[in-house]
Amino acid sequence: MDYKKILGELTPYKQGKQIREVKEQFGLERIVKLASNENPFGYSNRLDNLNAFSPSLEIYPDGYTAELRKALAEKLNVEENQLIFGNGSDEIITSICRAFLYPGVNTVMPVPSFPQYKHNALIEGAEIKEIPVVNGYHDLQAMLEAIDDKTNVVWLCSPNNPTGCAIPSNEFYSFLDQCPENVLVVLDEAYYEYLDKEKDIHALHCLSEYKNLLVLRTFSKAYGLAGLRIGYAIGNSELTAKLDVVRGPFNTSSIAQKAALIALEDDAFIAESISKNNKIKEEFQRFLDSIDWHYYDSETNFLFISTPISSEKVFEYLQQNGFIVRPAGEKTIRVTIGNETDMKQLQAIILQLNNTIKEEIQS
Ligand SMILES: *Cc1c(COP(=O)(O)O)cnc(C)c1O
Repeated sequence: MDYKKILGELTPYKQGKQIREVKEQFGLERIVKLASNENPFGYSNRLDNLNAFSPSLEIYPDGYTAELRKALAEKLNVEENQLIFGNGSDEIITSICRAFLYPGVNTVMPVPSFPQYKHNALIEGAEIKEIPVVNGYHDLQAMLEAIDDKTNVVWLCSPNNPTGCAIPSNEFYSFLDQCPENVLVVLDEAYYEYLDKEKDIHALHCLSEYKNLLVLRTFSKAYGLAGLRIGYAIGNSELTAKLDVVRGPFNTSSIAQKAALIALEDDAFIAESISKNNKIKEEFQRFLDSIDWHYYDSETNFLFISTPISSEKVFEYLQQNGFIVRPAGEKTIRVTIGNETDMKQLQAIILQLNNTIKEEIQS
């Protein structure tokens, strides 16, 4: 069969091990998954009784996502036609690549960052230009310099996954001012809710000035609805209209739409999740300071941490002790901030590991 040649070089997304698999493999009772930046506090308790308002399953969902669209447009203070919904923001990333990328054009992105930008761009046959982050921060100057007359899309991820660092406002606007207007700038704000309000770059306020900007957000992270698959993008109506052509007709499920609508109204749940996250994150940072393990600045619910031995070894050790984290480089791991009890336990395990490492160095 004559599939795209690039598929021979790519592999399917390799998800972290499922909790059940790890339990069986190591004979553990309980596993704490800190590998995918899910909300350790679950989701709004207004969704506890989702059955009660679940729509007729035999009926197709509203392809226009009207109810959620209206509520979100009001909340974000944008026009309804500036929104597009996806089966997770993952699907919107796929649509962007499908709409904008093809052989002969290129796309500029930070590295490390969210792997789906590269993966989908390669499938479309575009050339990839990866610009290394500096101390976890985007190197926007180098990204600007990488843009040429064949560049169709630039990806910005703020706060960046996996490093956790957010793009400073002045750098962001200076980048937009210098970026050619015909280049689509995707700003992935999957962790927007976690961002310190003072560091918010208010990207939505400048959409009319920068018609080439598209902002991605999701219900998967702070809202705790990763299992339902629903995310969205905000941009100019001309842009969203083009992406709408690419979008599948019923790409978000009726249950996801309903749940997102209810979750959206529970500001208290988000506020509480953020405040707990920040407190627990600070405690974890103090602990890491105490054992001299370095980490990047984080405006998210995860930390990007340098490890004194290989990340694979750290990963294995933690896994044997019931914690799944994500190796994110040779000597770096990404750890989602879990709940207080779990993080205390994780600290104790890391402390043990660190003592073992020190003993080995001394002997
Ligand atoms: C989790 C994540 C996404 C994907 O989120 P979904 O809406 O669940 O598809 C996109 N971008 C970044 C940076 C993420 O961390």
